[in-house]
Amino acid sequence: MMIAHPGSEVRVLVRSRPTANFAQELIEYLPDGQTVSVHQRKDSRKGVVNNQLSSWSFRLDGVLHDVSQEEVYGRVGRGVVLGALEGYNGTVMCFGQTGAGKTYTMTGATENYKQRGIIPRALQEVFHEVEQRSDHAFSVHLSFLEIYNETLVDLLASVRGCPGVGPGGMAVVEEAGGGVSVRGLSLHPVHSEEVALNLLFEGEMNRIIGAHALNKNSSRSHCILTVHIESRSRTLSDAKYVTSKLNLVDLAGSERLGKTGSEGQVLKEAMYINKSLSFLEQAILALADRRRDHVPFRQTKLTHALKDSLGGNCNTVLVANIYGEASQIEETLSTLRFASRMKCVQMDPVVNEHTDPVLQVRKLEKEIQLLKQELSIHNTLANRMGMSYDTLSETQVAEIQSQVRRYLEGSLDEINIVSIRQIQEVFAQFKQAVQQQEQKVKAQLCQNYTLVEKAQSTAGSTAAKSQGSQGTVGVVEGHGFGVGLAVPSDRHIRLLSPGRTKAIKTKELASQGRKEAVEGRSPGPGKQVESVNPVQRDREGREHDPQNQEPQGPQEPLRTDSPPPKAEAFEDFKAERGSEINRILKENKVVLLERRARLRELTECVNTAKREIDSTSTALHQWRDKRQSQGQFVSAEGVPVLDEAELSLTLRLRELKTQYRQQYEELRGTKAEVSYCQHLVDQCRTRLLTEFESWYNESFLLPEEVQAMLRSGGPIRPGLVPVYKALALEEDEQDHFERLRYELVADSPSAISFYNAQNRTVQRRNYSKAMSQTPVQKTTPRGSGRSKLPAILSVI
Ligand code: ADP
Ligand code: MG
Repeated sequence: MMIAHPGSEVRVLVRSRPTANFAQELIEYLPDGQTVSVHQRKDSRKGVVNNQLSSWSFRLDGVLHDVSQEEVYGRVGRGVVLGALEGYNGTVMCFGQTGAGKTYTMTGATENYKQRGIIPRALQEVFHEVEQRSDHAFSVHLSFLEIYNETLVDLLASVRGCPGVGPGGMAVVEEAGGGVSVRGLSLHPVHSEEVALNLLFEGEMNRIIGAHALNKNSSRSHCILTVHIESRSRTLSDAKYVTSKLNLVDLAGSERLGKTGSEGQVLKEAMYINKSLSFLEQAILALADRRRDHVPFRQTKLTHALKDSLGGNCNTVLVANIYGEASQIEETLSTLRFASRMKCVQMDPVVNEHTDPVLQVRKLEKEIQLLKQELSIHNTLANRMGMSYDTLSETQVAEIQSQVRRYLEGSLDEINIVSIRQIQEVFAQFKQAVQQQEQKVKAQLCQNYTLVEKAQSTAGSTAAKSQGSQGTVGVVEGHGFGVGLAVPSDRHIRLLSPGRTKAIKTKELASQGRKEAVEGRSPGPGKQVESVNPVQRDREGREHDPQNQEPQGPQEPLRTDSPPPKAEAFEDFKAERGSEINRILKENKVVLLERRARLRELTECVNTAKREIDSTSTALHQWRDKRQSQGQFVSAEGVPVLDEAELSLTLRLRELKTQYRQQYEELRGTKAEVSYCQHLVDQCRTRLLTEFESWYNESFLLPEEVQAMLRSGGPIRPGLVPVYKALALEEDEQDHFERLRYELVADSPSAISFYNAQNRTVQRRNYSKAMSQTPVQKTTPRGSGRSKLPAILSVI
C-alpha cells in the first residue's frame, strides 16, 4: 500500500501521452524509472539556430511511459484510495497542458472499459473494499464540482432529487477543523459502483467543453470529483467513527496564453485558467516552503477548494501529464518544473476520527444500566434489598427534608447514610435551611433599620471617615488591632439608624475641607488597613479614649472611600444604639468592682483569722506538752481539769474558729457573687461588641461575602483580628482577674466543688495559663480531724 508516512512528500509521477513524434532527442527517461531529462535548443524560437542545448533533469517518484491504465491506477491511485477507506484524506491530481492526457488519466476513454481511468477504477475499488470490509459500515457520497472561469458549478445538480443551490449560491467555506467544503454543492449517497459510475458520466456530460485550437474535446475547466467516505466499526459498539475525502482532480490545461491563439470566449477562459493555475503554483510554493506560515489558498476558487487536498493532512499524488512532441517542449518543461516543486510539499496525513454524540450517549446509558445491575447484585449479597438508584421522588425528597429539620431541631440524633443521591439531597436541604435562616435574619434587620442606598450616603460616609481619621492620627500604625475591610465601590447598601444619619451629616460638614485635601492620595483598594484602637481601661476599669490624646506620629494618608475608624464608631455606638447595654455594662462593672473589693477584704480577714488560729493552736499544744511532762492536773474528785491558761487558749481557739468559719462562709458567698458579676459583665461586653460589630458591618457597606464570613466567625483577612475578639482580651482586665484569683486547698471538701466550678469558668475564659502560674500556698494544720480548716488563702 502506498500510504504516505507522516512527514513524507507529495508523490509526483510523470505520464507522457503516446505520440508517433516523440521527441526522443529532447526528452530522455533515465533507466532508474524516476528521472526525466529535458534538453532544449537555446533561443530556438528567436530564430537563432545554433543547435546548442540546455539540459534539465527532474527526479520524481516515477515515470509512466507506455504504461497501461491499470498500471497507472496501481501506481497512482490505489494507495490513496485504500488510505481513504482507513480515514485518511487523499487527492489524485492531473496537471499538464491541454491534450497531454489528464482527462484520459483521470476518467479514461469512457467507451472502452479497459481504458477507463483512475476515477472509475477508484470507485470500483471503493465499493469492492466496502463489500470486503464487512466489519465496518461504510457510507459513501459523491460530489462533482467544476470551476469554470472562477465560477463554481455543481456537475451533479441535474441529478433527480437534487436539492438545488441555496439562496447564497455556491461558495467555498472553511470548516472548524481547518478543512474546506463547498456550500451548495450537492452530495449524493452512493451504494454501488454502478450508481457511482452513473453519476460520473452524468457529471462528465455536464462539463462545459470549450473549443480549442489544440484539442476540441479538452476541458477548459477544473473538475473535482470527491468521494466522501464515512466508516464505523460494526463489531465495536464504539461512538467513534472515521471520515475521509478522496479528491480526484482533473485540472484545466496549463499551457500559456500566447500559444493557443485563442480569442474571445476562449481567451477569457484561458486567462482564468492561467490565473488559477498560477495561484495554484504560488500556493504550492508556499506549501513547499516550511518557513512560510501563510499559504494564499483563497486567491482563487481552485486553490481555496483544494486547501485541504494539497499536502498537509492528505495523501496527495500528482500526475504531471506531458505531450512529448518537440513542439510542446516548453510546456513539457513548465509542467515538469511544476511537478518538481509539488514534490517538495510535505504531507502529514492523520486519520479523521470523530465521536458520535448520539452513540456516545447510548453507550453510556448501556453502561449505566450494567452498573445498576452490578449494584443490585452487590446489594443482594450485602442484604440490602430494595435499593433504588434512580432520581429521588418527591416523597423521598420530602422525607429527607423532614429528617434534616428534625436533626436541626435536635429531635433526630442522626441521619442514616443510604446512597450518594440521598447524601447529596441531605446537603441540599441543609443549604436550603441555612439560606432560609439567612433571609429571615436579613428581613429582620431590614425591619429594624432604615435602608439607605449607597449612592445617597457616599458623601456622608466619606466625610464621617475623614473626620474619624483626624482623630486616629498617630494611632493607625502604632497601636490597635488591624481590621482590614476592603470594600469594593459598587454593590453597597447601608443600614443606618435615624440617629446615625444625623451624626454623619454633622460630621460631613465639619470635615469637608479635610476631605478635599486628601483626595487622590489614597492607596489602591484592597490595600487599606483600617486600624481600630482598643478602648483602654485603667485598673479601676474606667475607660479612657487614646484618640483624644494629641497626635504623635506622622500622619497616615487618609482614604476617602472607606468606613470610619472602628474606635470612633464604637464610641458613637455606645452613645446611641448601644447606650442601654452600655449602661447595664457599666452598672454591672460597678457592682463587680465593689464585690471584688469586699472579696479582698474578706480574704484578708480569713487569712488573719487563720494565722491566729495557727498561732493559738501552737501555743495550746506547747502548753499541753509542757504540762504533760509535769503530770495530769486533776480536781479534788479526781477528774482531770484544765488549768486557767489552757482554758483561755482553748476558748480563744474556739472563738477564732467560729469567726473563721463565718468569714469563710461569707467569702464563699462573695466569691460566688464576684464570679456571677464577672459573668454578667462578660456577657454584657460580648453583647455590646457583637452588636457593635454587626451594626458597624451593616452600616458601613461591607460586601455580602465579608459579612457572611463575619457571621461564620472566620477571619476577615489572614493576620487581622476581629475587633470584638481583640477587645475581649484587654490586658488590664486580664491582670485584674489574675490579681484577684486565689486558690483553695484541696483538703476542704466544700472548697473542691467551688474550685472545680471556678476552674471550669477560668478554662472557658481561656485563662488556664495564668492559673497554672499562680503560687499555691499550703499550710497543713496540725491537730486532728475535727479542726481541719482550709489553708491560708493567698492574696496578691
Ligand atoms: P487533456 O485532458 O489533458 O486535455 P485528454 O485526456 O483529453 O487530454 O487527451 C487528449 C487525447 O489524447 C485524447 O483523445 C486521449 O484519448 C488521448 N490520450 C491521452 N493520453 C493517452 C494515453 N496514455 N493513451 C492513449 N491515448 C491517450
Ligand atoms: Mg481534459
